[in-house]
Amino acid sequence: MSTQIRGSFHWMKSLNKSIILNKIRMDGPISRADIAKQTKLTPPTVSSIVKELIESKLVIESNQGESSGGRKPTMLMINASNFFVIGLDIGPKWLRAVIADLNGKSYDSAIHHIPASITEQLLIELTTDTIESIFSAHPESQEKVIGIGIGMHGVVDADAGIATYAPSLDLRNIPFKEVLEKKFNLIVKVENDARALSLGEAWFGKGSNSEHVITVNVGRGIGAGIVIDNKLFRGKHQIAGEIGHMTIDLSGPLCDCGNYGCLQTLAAGPALVKRAVKSMSMHPESSLHSFKEEDITGKVIYEEAVKGDAFCKEIFEETGVYLGTGLTNVIHTLNPERIVIGGGLANAGDLLLDPIKATITRKALTKEAKETEIVFSNLGKFGTALGAVSLLLVEMFAKAE
Ligand SMILES: [Zn+2]
Repeated sequence: MSTQIRGSFHWMKSLNKSIILNKIRMDGPISRADIAKQTKLTPPTVSSIVKELIESKLVIESNQGESSGGRKPTMLMINASNFFVIGLDIGPKWLRAVIADLNGKSYDSAIHHIPASITEQLLIELTTDTIESIFSAHPESQEKVIGIGIGMHGVVDADAGIATYAPSLDLRNIPFKEVLEKKFNLIVKVENDARALSLGEAWFGKGSNSEHVITVNVGRGIGAGIVIDNKLFRGKHQIAGEIGHMTIDLSGPLCDCGNYGCLQTLAAGPALVKRAVKSMSMHPESSLHSFKEEDITGKVIYEEAVKGDAFCKEIFEETGVYLGTGLTNVIHTLNPERIVIGGGLANAGDLLLDPIKATITRKALTKEAKETEIVFSNLGKFGTALGAVSLLLVEMFAKAE
């Protein structure tokens, strides 16, 4: 790996470079003169930085643009496919990895099962092995990787790059940043997985072009990543976005956190299944009775609902009302432009989306709040890994104030 590439992330991070890079990313092909006008940097500053960016192959000159007379200006574009970032999603059960270019186009991906009995040391080994195998499968990309991003479940100290507590694996204090930076000589960013997904949505997905976007992950639990002014909001003690523990029903079921009626005890995947199993005896006509109790999953209930089973449809309807109630509280607290829903329940489509939207329309305060856009994520099962890629990109491409 060349010294130039090793230092390149820090080199790119100078503020004026980032501002110019972001201008070219958002508005390219664009001329030097327009960059200067729109960023308020002086033309000589723009010229000298653009020269460096072209020498580093980050920016290329494209066809000449229109001119109102005189010489046609040369247009500039980001050379997105010439650089790569490796993104990892380390969840409770699976480690997913992608290698993607600066546009978020994935060139390859890998997935490994994480055994429940894994130790801190073994998880670090699994992570380094995964990265090494990506490098050996793509020797041509080795010189072009600018960094590694990790979206890790549980509590993460993003500044130190440490996974402080991963409850589902019962692991503590995994120093990913320190170990991987030493091993690969690349910059490493670590973030909580819901926040990484949220940033990925804001950068590449359904949230792009929205400055305030909230991504809600509805799976085994419920968590949200909050992006305000295109930046992640973590709160003073890193718990901003723990909307799964928002109280929805004071006399609801007991939650892992010790409170009653938290949103995730009513609307997460396991809660939906539990509710169906508990009340199916009151619906003897339901096709769920043809399944063994232990075989009833969210997917089964969804499939039976699609086939027309009224009881299964009702379970989704109720879940949508709970989620819509929680999201109305989020809208009233943060007033986002858009809410993106990801995670396992995002596969339920209109069965879930219709009651969510109807509930928000019923409950939200103003006409504009009622019309807050609610969409499902389209980044797919590697969405969090792509979000981990965006952890590096947000620092490379800074917005001019
Ligand atoms: Zn709770």
